[in-house]
Parts: sequence; C-alpha cells; structure tokens
Amino acid sequence: MSYVGPDFEPPRPSRPRRGALTVAVAALVPAALVGWLVYEAVADTGGGRSLGAPPATSSSPPATATGSATDDGRRPAASPMPTPTAASAASAASGSLRGKVVLVDPGHNPGNVQHPTEINRKVNIGTNWKECDTTGTSTDSGYTEARFTLDVARRLRAILQQQGATVKFTQDGDRPWGPCVDERARIGNDAHADAAISVHADGANPGDRGFHVILPASVHQGAADTRPIVATSRDLGERVAGSFVRVTGSAPANYVGDGTGLVVRNDLGGLNLSTVPKVFIECGNMRDGKDAALLTSETWRQKAAQGISEGIVSFLHG
Ligand SMILES: [Zn+2]
Repeated sequence: MSYVGPDFEPPRPSRPRRGALTVAVAALVPAALVGWLVYEAVADTGGGRSLGAPPATSSSPPATATGSATDDGRRPAASPMPTPTAASAASAASGSLRGKVVLVDPGHNPGNVQHPTEINRKVNIGTNWKECDTTGTSTDSGYTEARFTLDVARRLRAILQQQGATVKFTQDGDRPWGPCVDERARIGNDAHADAAISVHADGANPGDRGFHVILPASVHQGAADTRPIVATSRDLGERVAGSFVRVTGSAPANYVGDGTGLVVRNDLGGLNLSTVPKVFIECGNMRDGKDAALLTSETWRQKAAQGISEGIVSFLHG
C-alpha cells in the first residue's frame, strides 16, 4: 500500500465491503478455524499476542479493480489456510532444488519516491490500466517497505540458493525505480519460474495485525489469463502461509481473510499477468506498532525469509 504519491488512500474501515462478488464464506469457516487452531498450537507465545477467534462474517473480493488500489492494499476474500505440517521442513532438508527456478519480486523500489512520473505511468494489467508501480508504505519511524522487501528477498535468495535453486530477482536495488508491475510479471514468465513470490508489507490501520498471502483470482481478460495458474498458485500460497505461521509465529491477518491468512485478488498486475505459479505475501502491517517492531527486527526478517522459503521448497518438491 502506498502512503505517499497519487494513489494515497485515506484510512479505510478495517473491514471494507467492496465489490459485487460474494463468496460463501460460511463453508470455509471450519477450515479457517482449523488453520487458526493450528496456529494457536504452533505459535510462539512469547509475543503475548491476544488475537481473538477468526470472524465468521462474510467478505467480498473486488469485482473489478478500482484504479486507486495499490499492489498491497486490502481486498478481502477468504479461503482456508492449510494445516502446517513438518512436511515442508522435511522436504527442505531432504533434497536439492537444482534445476528449479524461483522468481523473487521485492515489492516497490527504494528509488520510486524519487521518480513519480515514471512510476505513475499507466500500464495494462489485463483487467484495466494501473500505475506502473507505487512507493510502498513505511513504519512510523521511517523504515520503508521497499527496504524491508529487499532485505527479506535477499535473505530468501540466500536460503534457496543454498539448496541449489536458481533465484531471479525483479530488482535488486540496482535500478533507479520500478520495474513496472507488468514487467515484474514478465520477468518471472520469461524465466519460466517454477514458483514466483512478491514480497511486501502492508500499510493498513494501526491495530490491524498479522500476515496474509495473496492468491490470483481466475482472470481471463485482455492480456491476463490466470486460469492455468490459479490452482498451482493456491497450492504455493497455502504452503507459504502454513510455513510462515510455523516459522515466524505470526498470526494470520486480523483484518482480511477471515483469519485464514489467505486473500484472493484480481486487481494486481503482478498476478494477473503471471503465467507461472505466483503469490504475494504481506508479511505484516508496517503501520501497526507491534507489527512494526517485528518487521524492523533482523532476527524476525530472517524468520520471515525462512518461513517463506520452506513453503516454496515444499511446493517445488510437491
Ligand atoms: Zn507493497
């Protein structure tokens, strides 16, 4: 989410009701509760978190992008979180990732704020036109999302490379701005990545806490056709969410996803234009003081990278 620049959005209600599509969330609640109970069982209780049970209310994904949306805002659509198991850790330890290609997309770019003209240029994401890129958010103390995403991405790369994977970045702090969201997707496509992940942190309201993984909706419009990657991306996202809970002890977001840690969106160019299995992860809320304390911790960021990596490894090993 951007807090400066043309797509600034004023604070929204913590549980926005957007869009026209309604999902039958009631059918998903039992699975969500399973995920939540597993979370409670495995979470590190040292943080003293006291989040309540996941809400049983319905929420809606967007029918169309709004134009004001950023790549990491909040668009609720619930789906069940998987039961974390030791499988991902076991597979991480058991095999090589040699021959596997992973696309890691550090969200935003520290230089974007200096290049408003370039990043505000509209690009086509299939469903509509959208800003090339956004600046991202920041903690109250000024730690930017763009710095966070690069740091976690580099830690993630190191872990995956240690296991033999080929890791490609969309940007590595080596270009003045961007790339645009369509190019971010194209880089993963051209690399024929076996898995792709875009790393972000959210800019929600204080009190909104926790992580969520964003899955591509089924989109078939213009240059976007996610139909071949919806199922595989969900598999990837569920594994990443499960391992992220297990490794970091962080809770699924308390403001989107109905406690599942999973959200489906159709308004993100990085997902709409992907032809390879791809998800986003919002690792926490930079605008919440407690989440910010985690996000600014090197120790926690290493856990975040480890959690993400284990989900990817599990997915790649099938
Ligand atoms: Zn972001």
